[in-house]
Amino acid sequence: MGPPVDPVPAGDSQPKSADVVIVGGGIIGVSTALFLAKRGVSVVLCEKGHIAGEQSSRNWGWCRRMGRDPRELPLIVEALKMWGDIEQLVGEDVGFRRTGILYLCQDESDVEHHSEWLKTAGDYALDTRMIEGRALADLMPGAQKNFRAALHTPSDGRAEPQKAAPAIARAAQRAGAQILLRCAVREIETEGGRVSGVVTENGLIRAGTVVVAGGAWSSRLCRDVGVRLPQLAVRSSVMRTAPVEGGPDGAAWTEGFAYRKRLDGGYTIADGTISYHHVNPDSFRYFADFLPILSREWRSVGLRFGDFVGGPFGLSPKLDGAATVYETHRTLDPEPAEGRLEQARASMEKVFPVLKGVPTVQRWAGFIDATPDAVPVIAPVKSMPGLMLATGFSGHGFGIGPAAGRLTADLVTNDTPLVDPRAFRYERFIDGTKHRPTTGV
Ligand SMILES: Cc1cc2nc3c(=O)[nH]c(=O)nc-3n(C[C@H](O)[C@H](O)[C@H](O)COP(=O)(O)OP(=O)(O)OC[C@H]3O[C@@H](n4cnc5c(N)ncnc54)[C@H](O)[C@@H]3O)c2cc1C
Repeated sequence: MGPPVDPVPAGDSQPKSADVVIVGGGIIGVSTALFLAKRGVSVVLCEKGHIAGEQSSRNWGWCRRMGRDPRELPLIVEALKMWGDIEQLVGEDVGFRRTGILYLCQDESDVEHHSEWLKTAGDYALDTRMIEGRALADLMPGAQKNFRAALHTPSDGRAEPQKAAPAIARAAQRAGAQILLRCAVREIETEGGRVSGVVTENGLIRAGTVVVAGGAWSSRLCRDVGVRLPQLAVRSSVMRTAPVEGGPDGAAWTEGFAYRKRLDGGYTIADGTISYHHVNPDSFRYFADFLPILSREWRSVGLRFGDFVGGPFGLSPKLDGAATVYETHRTLDPEPAEGRLEQARASMEKVFPVLKGVPTVQRWAGFIDATPDAVPVIAPVKSMPGLMLATGFSGHGFGIGPAAGRLTADLVTNDTPLVDPRAFRYERFIDGTKHRPTTGV
């Protein structure tokens, strides 16, 4: 089971029409709904399960610019500004704290590797530095291991995934957005080659614009309407502990473990070195698209076999009158990799003995929506007027979420975009553009 998520009241009954329908109530969908509703656009968001039931509540909660692909940097820079003002935007504390992020270096080769990013940080005037000795020790109270150095961005931060998207959703409701829960979109409707609405499990909603913010499900939804969106689901596991007295604040990653201090005083801990792809028909469909990133990242992606035909990403043919895969899988809830999580916790305990004896409260996993270049698509689809994609955040979408929602809203309403959106265009995946992954998932 996923972590407990703050509740969002269900909206009224399903309307017959709206200006915009958003598919998906993760952080991207709810942020888009908020910015559209604030502009007076009539917007309906359909979520098949509950708000933030999938990736948006299951993530580590890192809001980082450090280590980002340069194509994402202008947007994440804007996102960090928005996180700084999030309480004004949504009217409550969602746990955003600028407690900094560390990439801990075990040896010289780590220092060399992480130092490469300093040039990019300089281009954006970020406060990223390589630190060592006393400066590093001060950020790791109680550490029993001396790391060689760390790449550190003090002004990066963290927020609470189980609070943030629900709070944004409630703010969107107050601004006039309608949020429908347990309302699966079965398919996108078209008329004369353009989008005309969606068919949900409760019937038709007519709309001139449909925003697909469906996370790991977006590729399937697009395929059914003839739009090829190469995307693969990758399973990543997390655990959380009970509150701990002492220990480091903020968040850090190193080979073997990653952690973030939670608002409740516990730690969110993960392995952070390996994720798993469960082989399914998409693995073959998009194999060529993913070859460049796989040849770079093969050490950090394990393959799992079984349930090729069934399962959420299996064949699941549409049968008239029967519940679709979106209703049989209201909330993706994959099994966590328990052994890996225990190893990660043991590695962290060796460095921070203060964790010894602290109970593990929960373990869970989530499916990440990876694209071939690990950069999202935030763009209209030229061949299908009215279809807007905001998906494929490749394991980095929580921190960038509020700004990605704002940019999506800008593109829907033809307002001046928050940042140049060209890096996020959809057509790069179908026009022969070579995929250039610079970061991992
Ligand atoms: C373990 C893990 C750790 C991560 N750590 C970080 C991190 O530290 N920092 C960071 O920035 N990012 C992180 N991420 C990535 C981040 O969580 C995601 O990029 C982000 O939450 C994506 O948001 P989303 O709204 O696009 O998708 P989701 O949160 O997955 O939401 C999509 C929603 O669409 C709904 N949906 C899909 N199809 C339909 C349909 N047909 N009808 C109705 N509803 C539908 C689903 O039910 C789901 O609720 C992590 C992800 C995982 C899994």
